[in-house]
Amino acid sequence: MVKVSVDKKKCIGCGSCVALCDNFELIEGKARVKNPNPKTVGCNKKAKDSCPTNAIKIK
Ligand code: SF4
Repeated sequence: MVKVSVDKKKCIGCGSCVALCDNFELIEGKARVKNPNPKTVGCNKKAKDSCPTNAIKIK
């Protein structure tokens, strides 16, 4: 199973992950993962790679 998370302390709310992957949304200036346990990595990987502060973790 895939586990996706955002470290809110690192997130600067740039919106890159939200633009690239519909599994992310911005709430009060911080990214939030809609489904933390997706069946496949899918676009979450793109979002992770795009994050300027390395706030997104995928296990
Ligand atoms: S790409 Fe990173 S810094 Fe930007 S909103 Fe998403 S988690 Fe936050």
